[in-house]
Amino acid sequence: FVLHERLNSTNTYCMQLIQQADYVRPQVVMAEWQTAGRGRRGRQWVSPVIAQNLLFSLGLRLQADTRCLTGLSLVVGLAVLATLRYFGLTQAGLKWPNDVYTNNRKISGILLELTGNPTDICHLVIGIGINLNMMPHTQSSIEQPWTSLRYETGQRIDRTALAICLMQNLHHYLAQQAQMGFQGLRHEWEQHHLWQGQRCILSTPNQEISGVALGVNDEGSLRLLVNGQEQSFCAGELSLRLD
Ligand code: ATP
Repeated sequence: FVLHERLNSTNTYCMQLIQQADYVRPQVVMAEWQTAGRGRRGRQWVSPVIAQNLLFSLGLRLQADTRCLTGLSLVVGLAVLATLRYFGLTQAGLKWPNDVYTNNRKISGILLELTGNPTDICHLVIGIGINLNMMPHTQSSIEQPWTSLRYETGQRIDRTALAICLMQNLHHYLAQQAQMGFQGLRHEWEQHHLWQGQRCILSTPNQEISGVALGVNDEGSLRLLVNGQEQSFCAGELSLRLD
């Protein structure tokens, strides 16, 4: 894998790398800091240069006949969660579709980007930001409650060890998904769903929908009980918060 001191975005760099060289093997890119770190829907991923966080992208070249994209972002969430739990964050859980939270604070974000031909080869980049050593006094420009592994566990985190653990977990969960589909991991995902049974608000581009979170279906879509009726919502542009 490649470690950079500074990049605009590990996802952008990783995508260029795998497209240009058309690597058959997976490529991992990490950076000390990013000048234009991105989250979903054009939002910013914040990680100051002194924070010693994990900024990680895994690039994969996927064949049309073997790839399985259903529920992928939720599967990546499971891999990140397993990694954080291994490093002592035993209370952590998932917020649909793929954010990891502990004590009501966000500790990790995931951004998947896909390019290419749906019927042929495509390039997938799995971007993962994890707050490792960032402490509350380091950064105040994040507009929602956040925390870091060091803050939660009181221990300084070895990034290399964590990155290796993350790669192992990604390998494990992506292989499981390729074998069984997301439906084989659905139950495990729901076991870690922090908002299961709670009243939530889902923001879509046109409206806000209030309902009780019932879990996810075999495609990884969120199941909400809205006015006594179950409805499903696929990830896309949606955002969820507690009511
Ligand atoms: P939300 O977290 O509001 O549901 P999202 O899942 O679409 O949105 P991401 O793409 O995971 O969000 O990340 C972008 C958002 O995460 C930003 O808008 C900001 O609120 C928050 N954020 C940015 N940097 C950090 C960080 N280092 N730690 C925790 N949260 C962050």
